[in-house]
Amino acid sequence: MDSLKQAEIKKATVIGAGEMGHGIAEIFLINGYNVYLVDINEQALLKSKQLIEESLNKFVERGKLKPEDLTRFMNNLKLSTSIEESVKDAEIIIEAVPEKIEIKADVLSRASKFAKADAIIGTNTSNIKITDLSQYVSSPWRFLGTHFFNPPVIMKLVELVKGEKTDDKILDKVYNLMKSFGKEPIKVMKDTPGFIVNRISAPELLFFCLVVDQNLAKPEEIDAFAKEQGLPMGPYELMDYVGLDVVYDSLLYFSKVISPDYGKCKTVGELVKQGRLGKKSGYGFYQWSGGKAIIPKAAASDKVNLLDVLVLEVNEAVKLIEEKVATPEDIETAVKLGLNRPFGPITVAKSLTNDEVKSKLLELYQKFNCEVFKPAKSIEEGKLKDVIEGRYKPEKSGEKEKAEIEQQATSSAFKFIRLENLGNHVLRISIDRPKRNFLSPDVIEELDKAIESVWNDRDIWIVVLTGAGSDFSAGADLSTYIADGMQFIEFSRKGERVFRKLAEIPKVTIAEMKGYVLGGGFELALACDIRVASSDAIIGFPETTLGLLPGWGGTQRLAKLTNMNTALWLILTGKKISGEDALKLGIVSQVYDKSVIDDETIKLAKEIASNNAPIAEALAKRLINKATEVPMDIGLEWESTAFGILFNTEDLKEGISSLFEKRKPNFRGR
Ligand code: NAD
Repeated sequence: MDSLKQAEIKKATVIGAGEMGHGIAEIFLINGYNVYLVDINEQALLKSKQLIEESLNKFVERGKLKPEDLTRFMNNLKLSTSIEESVKDAEIIIEAVPEKIEIKADVLSRASKFAKADAIIGTNTSNIKITDLSQYVSSPWRFLGTHFFNPPVIMKLVELVKGEKTDDKILDKVYNLMKSFGKEPIKVMKDTPGFIVNRISAPELLFFCLVVDQNLAKPEEIDAFAKEQGLPMGPYELMDYVGLDVVYDSLLYFSKVISPDYGKCKTVGELVKQGRLGKKSGYGFYQWSGGKAIIPKAAASDKVNLLDVLVLEVNEAVKLIEEKVATPEDIETAVKLGLNRPFGPITVAKSLTNDEVKSKLLELYQKFNCEVFKPAKSIEEGKLKDVIEGRYKPEKSGEKEKAEIEQQATSSAFKFIRLENLGNHVLRISIDRPKRNFLSPDVIEELDKAIESVWNDRDIWIVVLTGAGSDFSAGADLSTYIADGMQFIEFSRKGERVFRKLAEIPKVTIAEMKGYVLGGGFELALACDIRVASSDAIIGFPETTLGLLPGWGGTQRLAKLTNMNTALWLILTGKKISGEDALKLGIVSQVYDKSVIDDETIKLAKEIASNNAPIAEALAKRLINKATEVPMDIGLEWESTAFGILFNTEDLKEGISSLFEKRKPNFRGR
């Protein structure tokens, strides 16, 4: 390498050559940095060098790295026992020494003292607040949390934590650097102990500690239960693997900075005092031999269930959103990546009702007398769905802050449609575009997202589709730029796919046809299960008068809903009809005066939700929608199978009991 190129190579220093430090050093080496790896222990340095070389060799064996690159990277690695010497030229310094404040304080103060004035300094702390550590760093504006996950070379997630004094530009710079390394950085926007992933995991860690403290089940019984659920390790085997001292220290730290109840766990503390630290000492909850835990055979415990753990995660995720630590999307991504899971707490929260989460949390809170398990404020107030869908507004925030949150919520979620949870299991989606709510590709895209986001939300049973203002929608936006025939086909197919979803979504959909309901707007209404109209609505298919034809299912659904004659008449003449006419033709089921249609439609939606069992409704609508597409024999077979599904629902039992007890049923969608 010539001297010019050598001069261009960037320099990084990693302090602490342990489990994490050697992996972090390897990441910088792979990305072409000159790396100084520093430790007080020379053996640790030599061991790290060996581990890095072994890891790089694996990349060579898999053909992902050339042998000459391996040699170059290893030549770029320097080992040192001197912080002072190794930090002085570095552009970025990452501290990865043990999770003890006094050690980190000493290392950070020396590193920042001898580093270049503009060197970025990151800490790989698992839990300690960045603001607390920043007091040991000179010029703390350049200091942030850089929380890698184990093993750092493999795990994509890096939590980048902003301390109170961290400069936004530094956060952005490291964010871009990590992106350029192929990592998936997540910005943690408010300093909190444990950041995202470890904070989400903290209550369940405490939960399992309290389960053994209270002798509810033996560790091996719970671990057997966890393995039955498909987890590779149960919680106690995992604690042993991580190190009981590490677990205990984390819980003690959380007891000081989050809630004293984290200090309640006794068993783990006693094991640590006895020197039983888990895998590293050969004995923890279990004995360890040859790197494996010897777990006594046991039947899976029935004293815990999956929902216990899931609601604790949901609760903590909600607290993080309330505290404005991260957005729901970032929390979901961080947990999926950090814990190698197919889904995170936001997905779980979407599939549970506020009542289910709240009652389970209250049960755990009372059973263990533990404040940590108490429902978060918004769950207490029934606002779980608002929080996870980004519509949360803290009460205490000022006008400016509220406006910002509102702006964030709309910009991150929807710009052209509005979603309102109206309570009693009813969601209203309003198309909200200037001048008659024309359907542009953006509106179709957002409708698609909205339908997907509500698909598994068990709190929502009825979806009302309407338009903001006095019109439903006057049709597709013909000012949309369409480059060629192929793009036109795709615009049409996209709408078809989205409208088909409306026919399949397991909820009752109601179209509120008011004002102009033309072309694409009419097609959208036809894709809903129930249609109501204002008496003076202007309904029709004017497409052929423009040289087009009704797309998005328009030529198909109207004929199936009414008859060939009506469809041919409306489409081939392009004539417009009123809501009253549509009622006579069997296109709509109710007509209201335009002055009351908004209220009457919601009243109807709430009435359906209060009188009818949602699972039965979801199955019935699907069967009816398929009726025109499949032969009678198949439809009847599906119908019988649906009875088998309903047989096991709580709602069927409730429906029959209420009939005999002469009372109104209280359906719960289970
Ligand atoms: P480790 O014990 O494996 O390594 C720490 C290294 O720091 C050791 O080699 C030790 O000799 C060295 N060291 C101690 N004092 C030092 C000093 N004054 N100067 C220089 N070197 C010193 O620890 P680890 O598991 O790599 O954890 C490091 C940090 O990363 C901790 O803050 C930990 O919480 C965090 N972390 C760990 C994991 C994990 O899975 N192990 C995951 C994420 C974050």
